[in-house]
Parts: sequence; structure tokens; C-alpha cells
Amino acid sequence: MLTSELLWEHSEAPVRALRDEIREILASAPIAEARRRRDPRPVHRALGRAGLLAPQWPVEYGGRGVSHVTAAVLVEELAMHDVPDLLHTLTVSIVGTTLLNCAGPEMRARHLPGFAAGTSFGCVLFSEPHAGSDLSVLSTRAVRHGDGYRLHGTKTHSIFARLADHALCLARDDDDALTLFLVPLAGEGVRIEPIPALMDDDFHEVTLDGVEVGPGDVVGEPGQGWAIVVRTLAYERTGLDYYVKALRWHRAATAATGRLRGGIGQHDAIGLARLNARLVAAGTLVRRVLTRLDRGELNEDEAAAAKWYTTELAAEIAWWAAERGADQAMIAGEDGVADPLDVAAREAPGMRISGGTSEMMLETLARLRLDSGAEVRP
Ligand SMILES: Cc1cc2nc3c(=O)[nH]c(=O)nc-3n(C[C@H](O)[C@H](O)[C@H](O)COP(=O)(O)OP(=O)(O)OC[C@H]3O[C@@H](n4cnc5c(N)ncnc54)[C@H](O)[C@@H]3O)c2cc1C
Repeated sequence: MLTSELLWEHSEAPVRALRDEIREILASAPIAEARRRRDPRPVHRALGRAGLLAPQWPVEYGGRGVSHVTAAVLVEELAMHDVPDLLHTLTVSIVGTTLLNCAGPEMRARHLPGFAAGTSFGCVLFSEPHAGSDLSVLSTRAVRHGDGYRLHGTKTHSIFARLADHALCLARDDDDALTLFLVPLAGEGVRIEPIPALMDDDFHEVTLDGVEVGPGDVVGEPGQGWAIVVRTLAYERTGLDYYVKALRWHRAATAATGRLRGGIGQHDAIGLARLNARLVAAGTLVRRVLTRLDRGELNEDEAAAAKWYTTELAAEIAWWAAERGADQAMIAGEDGVADPLDVAAREAPGMRISGGTSEMMLETLARLRLDSGAEVRP
């Protein structure tokens, strides 16, 4: 079999109905414009109006209350329609899901409906020039000021800070404990500078120069920042986003290889079939992590395995296509934006770094599985 299948294609009727609804909205959403401008917010708003931007969230926060496994069809459809996906990952899967699980009711009510409606967006301010893999050495300070705090420091490599309204920001408080804040980016004292990137979306350096935040902007309790960020990273590491990209790129590579050589020869067919078999394995890992989320469980090592396997596979598909010149065989779209395999070659290196590098995922697996003497299952 050369064509990889969507994970949930043959699932039960409610999943198919959700997919149909999403497809109908995406059919008339301004996707080409979103890709050209690298601004998917109008597409998000179209989905948000129908309660389809965060379908796994409770209805009271603008979702549909479906399972994470079911809601994954949205992420699949965004990838299959080539909608720039990182803003959705940041706003819903990372920032929103962290608030849903770790913030108090007032903060949830204040922010989640806007995130689910596509009228407000989130990004992440964790990394610093000298703190990436090891966030415990970060130096951004949260200095007590009246009831609240003033934040001082420099964050780097933040994606979509230019479009986001709020950022999850990890800082060190007066007790030297890490505290997590939700920082308004339009506030005084925030400076956002782009850092050019290989991929289409720029990084940003964000300078916080005495930015004022109130007690209501602390996520969870003061000093709980590290425990919450461990959960945030696990939400980021379901592997779903990377899996659907790998799937999209495999489909594009299959189509392009056929066009390039006037039909897929045996050698390429074997290569594509091997990658497809690994896609099936990747899908199994992703499903396992999503199923755990539905049970309210977080398993750090399974998430690390899913993140590692899906990003390594996505990168392998991207290189496979590039080595065969398949990226040049994609027909350039009339909308004048890069084809999926060109995007793949430029996005794949960053996927192995963002949200925890491949080496750190292996380190996490070794620490949690081998140290405990547990058997490491594929
Ligand atoms: C596409 C992309 C998007 C990103 N988006 C964001 C964002 O929105 N917000 C944000 O805050 N940050 C973001 N980042 C930053 C990202 O989180 C960091 O780049 C990442 O955590 C690695 O940190 P570093 O770059 O400082 O590398 P380092 O931590 O300095 O690592 C350098 C190398 O050393 C290896 N290494 C480090 N420690 C160990 C160890 N203990 N064992 C083995 N090997 C080790 C690493 O694997 C890596 O190969 C993004 C990065 C990328 C590429």
C-alpha cells in the first residue's frame, strides 16, 4: 500500500460527521490568503464560530466536549488543507490546554472562550538565550510589586509572538522559585523583534522590561511553575501535529515521485512503503498518548517517545523526498506559496528541536524507563 491513510478515516459516525463539518468550513475559508500572509487567524475564526477550533474543550469554554482522540480529526484536516498549523498548536494544544488543566476558574473563564473562538491567541515564552533544553537555569525575574509582579528578562525563539495576544511565560520569583504567568503582549514594557528562520514562520526575541502582571495572571500557584511546565510540555508532545505533517508529506512525496518518473518504480515503491509502515507505528504511539489524555493521565515517557518517533519520521520523509528531487516535481500552486515538500525540507530540522530536542526525548526515555528497570516497548 503506497498511500497512507488518515488515522481516523474508518472510525465511527460521530468522527466522520465532525470531519465533514470541518471540511465544509475549510472549503470556503481563506486558506490561500492565510498561507501567503502566514496569518491563519481568519481560518481559525471561521472554525471558532462553529465551536470547532478546540472541540475537545468543554462547551462552556467554546468547545464541543469531544474526546482528544476524536478532536484529532481537526489537526489532521488542518494539515491536509495545508493551513499553517503552529498558531493552533500554540493557542489550543499548549497554552489553552495548560490553562484548562492548571489554571483557576477565573483565569479559564477569562481566556479560554476567546482562544476557542479564534478571537484571541497564545504563544510560549520559555526559552532564553542561555536556557533551552535546561529551563531550570533561566534568568527572567518576577519581582514583587504591590499585589502583583514586574517581569524583567529576555525570551527567545518564540514562534507567533507577533500575532499572539497572551504568552505563557516562565520566570524566577523573589524566592528563586519558578512561577508561570500569562502575560498580555500588548502591555507596556514588551518589545518583540523578529529573528529570521529557515521555515516560513519567524522566531521572535521578546524583551520584558518591567512588564506589570497581577496576581490573577499567575497560572496555578506562585512557585508551581516547574510542575506545570512539565505538564505543558507533555501536552505539546502528543506527537499528533508531527504525525499529521508526516502523513501530509508522505502523500505529497507519493504523488510527486509518480509525476517525476512517469510512474513509481519498484525502488521508490519500496522506500515509500517502508515509510508508510513507520507511519502506522507513529499513529499507534500518538493514539496511545491521546487516549491517556482522555483518561486524565499524563505519561511523560510515552509523550517523549511519541514526540521523538514522529519528528524523526517526518524528517526522514522530508529528506527522502528531497533526495529524489520529488520536491521539484510538485506543481507550484496558483496561490504562489511554497509546495508541501519545500515546506517539509525547511520545517523538518526545527521539529527535531522545538518542544524538546530528539536527544532530550531519548534522555527522558532513558531516565524514566531504564532507571526504573521497566521494559521499553515500541
Ligand atoms: C521550530 C522551533 C520553534 C520553537 N518555538 C519556541 C517557542 O515558541 N517558545 C520557546 O520558548 N522556545 C521555542 N523554541 C526553542 C526550543 O524550545 C529550544 O531551541 C530547545 O529547547 C533547545 O534549546 P537550545 O536551542 O537552547 O539548545 P541547547 O539546549 O543548547 O542544546 C544544544 C544541543 O545539545 C543537546 N543537549 C542539550 N542538553 C543535552 C543533554 N542533557 N543530553 C544530551 N544532549 C543534550 C541538544 O539536544 C542540542 O542538540 C523553538 C525552537 C524551534 C527550533
